[in-house]
Parts: sequence; C-alpha cells; structure tokens
Amino acid sequence: MIKTHVLNAIFRQSLSKSAYRRFATSTALNSENHYDIIVAGGGMVGSTLACTLSKNPKLSNRKILLLEASKDFNWKPTEKYSNRVVALNLNTRKLFERIGFWKHIESVRYSPVYKIQAWDALSESMITFDSSNDTEEVAYIVENSLILYAASIENKSLHNLNIINEARIKSCNLAIHEDDEIRVELENGTSYTCELLLGCDGVSSKVREAMGVQYVGWNYKQMGLVATLNLSEDTEENTIAWQRYIPTGTIALLPLNTKQSSLVWCNTKDNIQKLLKLPPEQFVDELNSALWKQYERNDIVNQATKFLNNILRTLDASSNIMQQLPPNICSIEQSSRAAFPLGFGHSANYIRKGAALVGDAAHRVHPLGGQGVNLGFGDICCLDEILGNAVYSGRKLNNLLDLRKYETARQRHNVPTMLALDGLQKLYTTDFTPVVLLRSLGLQITHALTPVKRAIIEQASH
Ligand SMILES: Cc1cc2nc3c(=O)[nH]c(=O)nc-3n(C[C@H](O)[C@H](O)[C@H](O)COP(=O)(O)OP(=O)(O)OC[C@H]3O[C@@H](n4cnc5c(N)ncnc54)[C@H](O)[C@@H]3O)c2cc1C
Repeated sequence: MIKTHVLNAIFRQSLSKSAYRRFATSTALNSENHYDIIVAGGGMVGSTLACTLSKNPKLSNRKILLLEASKDFNWKPTEKYSNRVVALNLNTRKLFERIGFWKHIESVRYSPVYKIQAWDALSESMITFDSSNDTEEVAYIVENSLILYAASIENKSLHNLNIINEARIKSCNLAIHEDDEIRVELENGTSYTCELLLGCDGVSSKVREAMGVQYVGWNYKQMGLVATLNLSEDTEENTIAWQRYIPTGTIALLPLNTKQSSLVWCNTKDNIQKLLKLPPEQFVDELNSALWKQYERNDIVNQATKFLNNILRTLDASSNIMQQLPPNICSIEQSSRAAFPLGFGHSANYIRKGAALVGDAAHRVHPLGGQGVNLGFGDICCLDEILGNAVYSGRKLNNLLDLRKYETARQRHNVPTMLALDGLQKLYTTDFTPVVLLRSLGLQITHALTPVKRAIIEQASH
C-alpha cells in the first residue's frame, strides 16, 4: 500500500508550486483542524476577543478557535474577593455590555468609582478626576476572575467558537506567500491551521516571537504588591480610587464595597520582599504609615506651589479644591498578599502577513494609570470593526491593508498613553527637588484646567 505522504509528494511534483499551494489550502479548509481565525491565549484579552469576533454578525459564518495553555476555567464567585482586580474604563464597560459579559458581572458584583484622587507625598499638589455629572462613574473595579468567568459563560454558548484548554503553543509557522496558511503547533504535537492568527498570549508571546518583530522592553526596578484590605470604618462613601505618590513608588486603593478595598502597592523589589514577609499587623502599620506619613518637604517647592495657587485663584481657576482623606486600613484578608514584576514593553509592529498582536502581547505598561488591560480591550474594538468590514466587503481576513489599518489606529492611541505612563512612573520615583518642583506645578495646572482633565479622561477611555 502506498502511504499518503508518498502520494502527496508525487502529486506535488506534478503540480506547479502555486497550484499545489491552492490544493493544500483547500484540503486543509475541509479538515477539522483548520479554522478561519485562531486566537492564541485565553486570558482576559484573548477570551474577550474570541467572544467579540464570534458575535460579530459579519463574521458569524467563520470558524474560530481559542487555544489556552491553562486548564478549563472553573472558578465560581465566592464571598471572598479575589486579590487581582482591574479598574475598567467606560469604553470597556460598553464593550462588555455589547458582548453580554456585563450582565454576568453585574449579577455578581463590581464597584463603581465616582472619583479618582491622586496626590504627591512631597508637595501640596494633587489631582482629581470625576465625571461632569456627579452621578456618573469614571471607572469600575472588577475582579480579573469575574471577567474570565463572564467570558467562559458567554463563550461556551457560541456555535462558531471552539475552545481548547491545556493547549500550550510550541511554535507558529507564519505565511510567507500570498495563499500560505498559518500553522500553529502545540506542545502535545497537535497542529492547527488558519487564515488569521491573533496573538493574545501575553508578555512572552510565542506569536510575537514567530512574527520576528522588534520589541522594546525593560523591567522597572519595582514590583506590584496586591492585597485585599479591610477598612477601619464601614462607609457608603467608599467609591473613590486613591493613589498616593511616595518616593519609592505608588500606593493605590481601589474600592470593592463599603468596608473593603483592593491594594496595588508599587515599590522597590527589596521593599516588596520585606512587605510580603511581615506579619499582617505590621504590614497594616507600614501601609497606613505610607498612606499618611508627612514626608519632609522642600521650601522652594512649598513656596512655588503656594504662589501658583494664588495666581490660579486670581484667574478663578483655583486648584486648591479640598484634598479628601483616604480611608484608614485596619487589617488585611488572610493570604491575600501577592506580588508581580512590573515592566514596559512595546512591539514595533502589531501585524505581519496573516497575524496580529492584541493586548499585553503587543504592549505592556506600569499599572499606575490602571490602563493595561483597557488598552487591550481598545485593540479588540478596533480589530473587530476592521475585520467585520473587510469580510463584508469581500476581502480576506488576512488582508494586509486591513491589518495595517488596525496597527496604525492602535499605535496612534497606545504609544502616547504608554509614554505618558512611563513618564509618570519616572517622574514620581525621585525626590530630586527640580523634578519635584516641575511635577508639582504641572499637576496643579492640570488639575485647574478642566478641559485638559477631560482630554486625559477621554484618552484613557479608548
Ligand atoms: C499589579 C497589577 C495591577 C494591574 N491593574 C490594572 C488595572 O487596574 N487596569 C488595567 O487596565 N490593567 C491592569 N493591569 C494590567 C493587566 O493585568 C494586563 O494588562 C492584562 O492581564 C493583560 O491581559 P492579556 O490577556 O493580554 O495577557 P495575559 O493576562 O498575560 O494572558 C495571556 C494568556 O495567554 C496564555 N498563554 C501564554 N502563553 C501561551 C502559549 N504558549 N500557549 C497558549 N496559551 C498561552 C496564558 O495562559 C494566559 O491565559 C495590572 C497589572 C498588574 C501586574
């Protein structure tokens, strides 16, 4: 009996190269392991992208595969909050409403944020962000697990989406010629082919590696410590997100409910290691001290900020709105402390023939602005629209011009946001007087200029 691969080789020799490629593509199209789109990585971004594309009416007859390295997600909401939360912006909420995630989140829990207050420990300067209307939220605090939970419920109901867990991608073979198909090989030896591969596999993306694109990245000499905090007082007013800039980093308190908040404390690696090992009571003392401690302030900075305040008051643009005081912390939830490395990373290109990067695979930011995953959700909205329109107009999913539109639109948005966040991180981890002076005056002026603050909120919402 002649083996199939021998027949295949004879057949290949008798055909021209392009005719063989057409044959190979059409046979693979009928095969079970061929998909129109493969989404690599089912984290918050990958599972949201898979759902969004599967629900796009213009893509409803396309077969989509989601490959995720970890086990099937079987988390169920419990009374105890998870220590990993994200601050979602208004556009992310709109996306979640559109694809059906929000109803699941709403039925469990989320915390609306009506105001953000950030202030400098080394000067009088501070900034607040709130909506034009007091009853509107500026952000929503949601547990990462709850987002994945909502995604798993919605995704399981989609007929055109296949999800495979424990599917760790070993390598990807990307298209070189016009009609080449893309091959994804798993560590267990199984292969899948597709027309378009979307890399949502995070910071150490295999898809990005296969694309061979330039990646600029560095690690901050900091880690982010997270924990669930119990407040000293039960208060309906726990709807403010607080961020204090101290010389070693930032401390953010994100409201969870009337008596609990979630902590993201960015600090030097050595300090974080010490903080992780402290007994809970001592940890709470350190945290309250970092939130309340009066740092020694420079006279020049003090005088300059007072002088600027007077000018702003004369111009009727006073930045001297009363600084509110953050809540006092009384204890932390048992075993809720954990720490994560922090870094910056950006891929010079988000696309290549037949492939595109989405979320942290394309860009990684410091958490001080609460923007990381929101940038990824912004990528999803953009890609969804572009791919839907391409197919509706009769073009292929891997059309390079369409993919380039995605890259251009998202880089125009992501790069300035990322540079601003990196700049803030650097600006606020020094006590060098000229820098403290400049950043304090800058913060005061920004705080006084409502249109500038609106523009910042607008940029952070896309
Ligand atoms: C302390 C901290 C606080 C943060 N707070 C905020 C915030 O308030 N707001 C905000 O917007 N962002 C925040 N972020 C950032 C946010 O967490 C990330 O941007 C987000 O998790 C990125 O999601 P992702 O799905 O792109 O990547 P990931 O979460 O890294 O997911 C990648 C997925 O791909 C899978 N995968 C990886 N390799 C493979 C492979 N070879 N084969 C198959 N699957 C693979 C992984 O298992 C994983 O499920 C914070 C980050 C930190 C560290």
